[in-house]
Amino acid sequence: MFGPVGIEAVLDQLRIKAMKTGFEFNIMVVGQSGLGKSTMVNTLFKSKVWQSTVPNMDVPMPQTLELHSVTHVIEEKGLKLKLTVTDTPGFGDQINNDKWESLDINEESWDPILSYINQQYEQYLQEELLITRQRHIPDTRVHCCVYFVPPTGHCLRPLDIEFLRRLCRTVNVVPVIARADSLTIEERDAFRSRVIWVPKAELIQQNLKTHCIDVYPQKCFDEDVNDRLLNSKIREQIPFAVVGADREHIVNGRCVLGRKTKWGIIEDSHLQDLKDITHNVHYENYRVLRLNESHL
Ligand code: GDP
Ligand code: MG
Repeated sequence: MFGPVGIEAVLDQLRIKAMKTGFEFNIMVVGQSGLGKSTMVNTLFKSKVWQSTVPNMDVPMPQTLELHSVTHVIEEKGLKLKLTVTDTPGFGDQINNDKWESLDINEESWDPILSYINQQYEQYLQEELLITRQRHIPDTRVHCCVYFVPPTGHCLRPLDIEFLRRLCRTVNVVPVIARADSLTIEERDAFRSRVIWVPKAELIQQNLKTHCIDVYPQKCFDEDVNDRLLNSKIREQIPFAVVGADREHIVNGRCVLGRKTKWGIIEDSHLQDLKDITHNVHYENYRVLRLNESHL
């Protein structure tokens, strides 16, 4: 009755299904103000959607005052990617520089951000609990939270540590060194030859480890040797260096935006993985907590 079902046929079916449903992916950018978050959001969309327009360098980026999401549907080879990026106001802006270094921490500084993340879980949960559920629940959950660390200083500040600890328990976190080009000439040269950069990256990696900040890709979710190999290469590069591309550069005769490759690493090979961990781990934790609460 059935013909042979090869793996290729199954993959084809999955591909067709993915084409039909499309792919939703949500990113959030977080960090102190002035680190280039909004520029990054713009660049990301420019590189994907407005490839033909030249970025306008004369108009300064207004300061971001509230959480703000931008969605674009990008179509590539028939597959629709609905990409939403949530820009956030500078976290800890009301805190003066000394406080960044002290442990006198005001919980309110990260409240709006954590609340937003949890609200999206709550919305999903409410949809899921309906007797008649939608076949496809719109997914606004944050799949990847990009955390901007300032380029100055050699390790994480206490406030970064405290916030990262909380974030990691709620969402997938990818730390990046912001404005990596604003290093001194010596630092930049050393960065190019990877002399100074590696120790700094190592320091931050050590910070993360000491404070049990489990950033993406989390070791405990490596499923096999291949995962371990690929992910350990990525872990060595944490935190990624990013450079805001308000300029276009000509590379090999092509016009490119500065940060494309760094994003590419996370984007292309790990989108589904980030979604799976969001659903199976972070959302699941939220769901269990909420359902336990409501049964008390
Ligand atoms: P936000 O507050 O984190 O959203 O930061 P903005 O995106 O508003 O950027 C603040 C300022 O930094 C702007 O003047 C940007 O042009 C500049 N900027 C953004 N990214 C970079 C970067 O990678 N390198 C340098 N040197 N400047 C940047
Ligand atoms: Mg901004």
